[in-house]
Amino acid sequence: MNKKKRLPNDCFALPRGITWTPVDHALEQLKRGLSTVKQSERIPLKHCVGRVLANSLYAIVNNPPFTNSAVDGYGFVGPARGSGNQLKLLPGVAAAGRPFNGTVSKGSAVKVLTGAVLPGGVDTIFLEEDVETKENSSISFTGPLKVGANTRNSGEDVKAGEKLFTAGHKFRPQDLALLVATGIAFVDVYSLLKVGVLSTGNELLDHGLEYPHLEKKGKVFDSNRPMLLSLIERWGFEAIDLGVICDEKNLLRERLDEASSRLDVIISSGGASSGDEDYVAKLIGSEGKLENWRIAIKPGRPLALGLWNGTPIFGLPGNPVAAFVCSLIFARPALWLLAGCGWIDPVRYNVVSSFNKKKKPGRREYLRARINHDGEAEIFPSEGSGRISSLSWSSGLLELLEHEESVCKGELVRYIPYSSFDL
Ligand code: AMP
Ligand code: MG
Repeated sequence: MNKKKRLPNDCFALPRGITWTPVDHALEQLKRGLSTVKQSERIPLKHCVGRVLANSLYAIVNNPPFTNSAVDGYGFVGPARGSGNQLKLLPGVAAAGRPFNGTVSKGSAVKVLTGAVLPGGVDTIFLEEDVETKENSSISFTGPLKVGANTRNSGEDVKAGEKLFTAGHKFRPQDLALLVATGIAFVDVYSLLKVGVLSTGNELLDHGLEYPHLEKKGKVFDSNRPMLLSLIERWGFEAIDLGVICDEKNLLRERLDEASSRLDVIISSGGASSGDEDYVAKLIGSEGKLENWRIAIKPGRPLALGLWNGTPIFGLPGNPVAAFVCSLIFARPALWLLAGCGWIDPVRYNVVSSFNKKKKPGRREYLRARINHDGEAEIFPSEGSGRISSLSWSSGLLELLEHEESVCKGELVRYIPYSSFDL
């Protein structure tokens, strides 16, 4: 049921000669190289929110299931004239869940409440507040009223057999209402993507330890792993903590072997460039399959993308800001593709810039930004990718495209709120 599919070794291969990969090119490679790795499983409806539909889903019953009243009022055989409508009132009432057993003939009416099955003969309802009743034996009202007024036809929303969702749809809470209404009790969804997260670096310390003398030993707290694990969970995948690994090839190999045998994706941070201690890129390069992408992006390069025993690995940069941005831009759509959801682009908005900025052409930049009280975008004063506080300060990213060389106050800029990344 939950068997893992392997990806081919050349799925990320870049054309020869490309050194600095444009962001869109890298995204295109991911889109083309990756495919759904999960099998499907059948789950009860109540567990489907956040899961990805594996087969197209069709309505079993009509919504509404029967023609019923949209208001509280009086049901009769329509239409009604503009004035002088007088009808005999039958005893009894048709209420939601309590149908009226008799038949209403022309010239008669019966009280009908919202949601009630239309009594036999009734095709039109007059609103209760516009009707005058006389001694509970007759009603009079002023029309005109068309046949079918104030009723809801069986299947007018959805007909049995109609397609509700196509494979790849990620269920939201409001979808449950539709599924329930159309008679669905179980859905086939892709099994949860299992994503392992590890940090690499001799300098890293697990959080939650007693406050140590960081500077004496040159240690920093491992900020990336809790952040990345939480991102994975937030996106609805199964997050597996693979711990911290020091810069040591054998330990890293062991951890990757173990993780790749049971997980669908591995995300690591740190050690992804070509320095002496950058074992992630080195190891995947020598013993796995590495596409070490020098992506023209700030913050973010390098992103070591590879396969270890057929399991995709995202080797993110160690700097927390770069790790975060690369996760949103590259890992998120890739993970959703692997999970069966297809490719998802974040929604971007044009907003007015409140600042001036010069930029190097040729690379894409993501600036940590937020919307100020005037509704304009402002950016964090420093662009340092170790400035972790900027992530909490900001409410989204500004995307400056490769060809852009400056931003002037008052110009429109592309803003991607974190909510566009489901955060
Ligand atoms: P690296 O990509 O391994 O060269 O690391 C770049 C910078 O990011 C270095 O200053 C590291 O100490 C820092 N760094 C790497 N991993 C983490 C992490 N998990 N948490 C916080 N900082 C990190
Ligand atoms: Mg390192």
